[in-house]
Amino acid sequence: MSAKLTVIKDDITQLEVDAIVNAANSSLQGGGGVDGAIHRAAGPDLKAYCAKLGGCPTGEAKISPGFDLPATNIIHTVGPVWHGGEDNEAEQLANCYRNSLALAARHHLKTIAFPGISCGVYGYPIEQACQIAVNTVSEETARYDDIRKVIFCAFDDQLQEALLEALSGMQYH
Ligand code: ADP
Repeated sequence: MSAKLTVIKDDITQLEVDAIVNAANSSLQGGGGVDGAIHRAAGPDLKAYCAKLGGCPTGEAKISPGFDLPATNIIHTVGPVWHGGEDNEAEQLANCYRNSLALAARHHLKTIAFPGISCGVYGYPIEQACQIAVNTVSEETARYDDIRKVIFCAFDDQLQEALLEALSGMQYH
């Protein structure tokens, strides 16, 4: 049975799930946007833990505990910076979702929440990013029995609407 995909508008740092995904940068040492919010909410032990992970290339994923977060784990992935679409951005963004879910499955996690990876300062066009997010998660979760629920967590109306649109498009295919 494939996992249930849902869209919510919320602060991802407040979610009680097995893992939230962080749209990190390759140093894994924190930054702005959702990354900064996650580091603030998880507390300083997160930065110390991440220092030992040796960074993370674009499209790949690493896992840490959630520390002070309600979420048990954090999966850190690094989205592509948008350079106009001719720089392998789509494949790299899909890889973020693929590798995050593969890591979640390896750790037998059942509930995972994603932010809009690359949809902030990395500048990925929102509709295209949501299409990739929804298509990739829907394909990949069919391969993993453990994963029961994937939440797309938007922080604003624009992302929430684009995610809902992408998801409703899927259901009619
Ligand atoms: P990137 O560098 O990958 O673009 P950003 O953090 O700049 O990452 O933005 C990614 C997405 O995360 C954006 O859609 C932004 O609105 C959203 N975001 C920022 N803070 C939060 C939060 N606390 N919870 C959920 N989403 C958030």
